[in-house]
Amino acid sequence: MTKALAFAAQDAVRPLGQTTIERREPGPRDVQFQILFCGVCHSDLHTARSQWPGTIYPCVPGHEIVGRVTKVGSGVKGFKAGDLAAVGCMVDSCKTCPSCREGMEQYCDTNGIVFTYNSKDPHFPGKATYGGYSSHIVVDERFCLHISDKLNLAAVAPLLCAGITLYSPLKHWGATKGKKVGIVGLGGLGHMGVKLSHAFGAHTVLFTTSPGKAEDGKRLGADEVVISKNEDEMNKHAGTFDLIVSTVAVSHNLDPFISLLKRDGTLVLVGAPEHPHPSPSVFNLIFRRRSIAGSIIGGIRETQEMLDFCAKHNIVSDIELIPIQKIDEAYERMLKSDVKYRFVIDMASLKG
Ligand code: NAP
Ligand code: ZN
Repeated sequence: MTKALAFAAQDAVRPLGQTTIERREPGPRDVQFQILFCGVCHSDLHTARSQWPGTIYPCVPGHEIVGRVTKVGSGVKGFKAGDLAAVGCMVDSCKTCPSCREGMEQYCDTNGIVFTYNSKDPHFPGKATYGGYSSHIVVDERFCLHISDKLNLAAVAPLLCAGITLYSPLKHWGATKGKKVGIVGLGGLGHMGVKLSHAFGAHTVLFTTSPGKAEDGKRLGADEVVISKNEDEMNKHAGTFDLIVSTVAVSHNLDPFISLLKRDGTLVLVGAPEHPHPSPSVFNLIFRRRSIAGSIIGGIRETQEMLDFCAKHNIVSDIELIPIQKIDEAYERMLKSDVKYRFVIDMASLKG
């Protein structure tokens, strides 16, 4: 067992603060690495502040983790000390069910998925898994990813959640040349969606509630920007979209977006608000055989594919680097949609 420094929420209301946690010694298939950077996802905020059911305190969030390997177990083949390594939202799954065997561990059929934080830790009975707001981590090599040393490491971190969460549905629902794709919300997830949809060659439209982000939306790869609160602007796109992916983190009316889908178009929800969306109009769905779907992150194989794609196409996140002591300030800014476009924690700020 080793001690790691960490930043934790002790309850839903107080600011996060420094603490010490335990990490296991690396087993035969484990990789231990020093965390250099960790992205700040809106899910960290939802969990730390108990907006979703089931937060276990103390809670150490963080699932966009990049770092350098310090030690590996005797059976590890893919990593050695000194290598770069990354971990996203999962650290284990049952590995035997059909979904796991197909490389879609995020949909593990036996509920065997172990999330990077706030899951029951199979290695420490009675405790939760602790995430990336910490000095080091130990993870089964099958859940560790390889990252390029050619990209800005801090800006790679958000690919591990925000990147894959958009890459996976864009691929699955066929965002390619000739398709019209909408991305709702220009936050951490949304800005990766705009970059990736553009890179896949789709005609990409950003929907934002923040007129001040329109210019950035275009710079990031949107062909068009629509202010979603403006009904006239929305109506101009009625019935024209193949796919719309919504990253919005609060409950809202889905009908204005469903109306923009073509026949057989799909609205994919990846945002996971605390309160449910109002039920959408059935008529709006049945007349054009439209679908509403959901999607969660991506499997390990697909995450590696996404990281390789991003390295090849020089795609990283647009980030604001912060010391860990500013985490609560970052959460408050996130709630005001004031992020450009992902906070990343410089873990060197975590001092003993
Ligand atoms: P974020 O950086 O806070 O971005 C959310 C964006 O939503 C905001 O920047 C804003 O963009 C838009 N928005 C905010 N309030 C709005 C409102 N009242 N009406 C319409 N739009 C609004 O959050 P994130 O880290 O991208 O995460 C987004 C959501 O996805 C969270 O719920 C998170 O838990 C979830 N998530 C899901 C998965 C998954 O696998 N499915 C993975 C990671 C995160 P504009 O200013 O452009 O409107
Ligand atoms: Zn996330």
